[in-house]
Amino acid sequence: MELKTLERLPMWIGGRAHAPTTTRYGEVTNPATGEVVRHVPYANPEDVDAAVRAAQDALPAWRASPSLRRARILMRFRDLMEANKKELAKIVTQEHGKTLVDAEGSITRGIEVVEFATGVPHLLKGEHSENVGTEVDSWSIRQPVGVCAGITPFNFPAMVPMWMYPVALACGNTFVLKPSERDPSLALRMGELLKEAGLPDGVFNVVHGDKEAVDALLAHPLVRAISFVGSTPIARYIYETGARNGKRVQALGGAKNHAIVLPDADLDFATEAIIGAGYGSAGERCMAISAVVAVGDAGDALIARLAVRARRIATGPGDAAGIEMGPVITRAARDRITGLIDRGVAEGAALVVDGRRPAVPGHPNGFFVGPTLFDRVAPSMTIYREEIFGPVLCVVRAGSLDEAIALVNANPYANGAAVFTRSGYAARRFQQDCEVGMAGVNVPIPVPMAFFSFGGWRNSLFGDLHVHGMDGVRFYTRTKVMTSRWPDDGSAAPGFHMPVMG
Ligand code: NAD
Repeated sequence: MELKTLERLPMWIGGRAHAPTTTRYGEVTNPATGEVVRHVPYANPEDVDAAVRAAQDALPAWRASPSLRRARILMRFRDLMEANKKELAKIVTQEHGKTLVDAEGSITRGIEVVEFATGVPHLLKGEHSENVGTEVDSWSIRQPVGVCAGITPFNFPAMVPMWMYPVALACGNTFVLKPSERDPSLALRMGELLKEAGLPDGVFNVVHGDKEAVDALLAHPLVRAISFVGSTPIARYIYETGARNGKRVQALGGAKNHAIVLPDADLDFATEAIIGAGYGSAGERCMAISAVVAVGDAGDALIARLAVRARRIATGPGDAAGIEMGPVITRAARDRITGLIDRGVAEGAALVVDGRRPAVPGHPNGFFVGPTLFDRVAPSMTIYREEIFGPVLCVVRAGSLDEAIALVNANPYANGAAVFTRSGYAARRFQQDCEVGMAGVNVPIPVPMAFFSFGGWRNSLFGDLHVHGMDGVRFYTRTKVMTSRWPDDGSAAPGFHMPVMG
């Protein structure tokens, strides 16, 4: 499917582009220019029902197909994603704004989940015990859950859906994806490439839309499991509503990731790492560092280095050579972020680098915010308490490692945290005591590889299981424990009482 300017996007249902019945459409903008590039349909309950029914119809044959056959389709899909990576990255950059190299990197991280999922014949193996009773054997099997739905955020239009559906499909489920309405095109390309890889029609479907589409998925009786990634208020809503409707739910929410810098750290190394983690993708990463806790003497030296480096960041359109940081997603996001910077100044934080009016020649209407650095931020300030989700780093000063860890643990969000130090003792203390889902030692964005699982604690995750890795396999399967005996003629049948081992 060739994406044309100002086209009305279709949905992807039953293995083909599908014209929706809805009459509600939204605009997709190129954040670097501010121009509308296409229109996206907002599905109504009938459109969602068509997708779920296509997934339900495809389920019996797909779940009955050998896991190795499913894995081989994913192997071909992996190769197609790799071969088309540059074209896919262009779509991400056009609708999201991040740089092309960053977009390619995010697709690579998604491909790694496909690679993990191709091991599914091994991953689905159960356990077996002989003679759990006299001539009685027992074993466990993992079976697919059924029709699964994924609801995903704007910031990773390729990678976050790929945290979900490769594992779900490998395990024998069928899938309905509701990608972000801000950058919806990539989901359609993934549908086409899955079909080209040999995926049967209806196994993977895409509906676009907003709350109405999401609510229809949450209420649909044929949807058995919901994976969600997005902001905390919506994650909580999805978890509570999905659970009330009897669905299995994993809902990943927002974040406020801290980097603790101890006085013994290599400050040049820490500076480079924090600059990339704070300003990469304009801070619109769920694992972006947004709060830096400078301990003791580290503070002044670190601020001086961060300021020099932040001022040098090349901000501009993500598809131009040499650009390190692109625009934020929408005009509303830009205004919200600059409003929060105003608030930080008003509440008394020291604004060291001000990104409110960046000069981006040739792009007067782009949604740009330049790198912004605050020092002397207090935990009571709005810029510390709220998830800014933009290129704004807040430095808090702390007197000790204990104080720094206490700050991490007091935050309502608990996705990731990192410590920069040369002390093994301090690193170990941090590992033991920090209360977050993903932690790094001298690694600023400790995103787990695909064969581990990704997820936070507290308000960063509602549900029990993280995404991909073995937690993904657990989420997308139900365990059945079999018990069997093959009595010889004349064996005594089980009696009236509770069977116990003699
Ligand atoms: P969002 O919560 O606004 O939207 C996420 C999805 O929910 C979208 O598909 C959207 O259409 C849908 N949605 C929005 N409002 C809804 C409503 N009222 N009812 C039902 N559905 C609704 O998030 P976003 O702005 O697209 O993404 C940014 C957020 O996602 C940030 O908070 C970021 O931290 C978070 N995020 C978290 C992770 C993680 O792994 N924890 C990863 C990526 C992004």
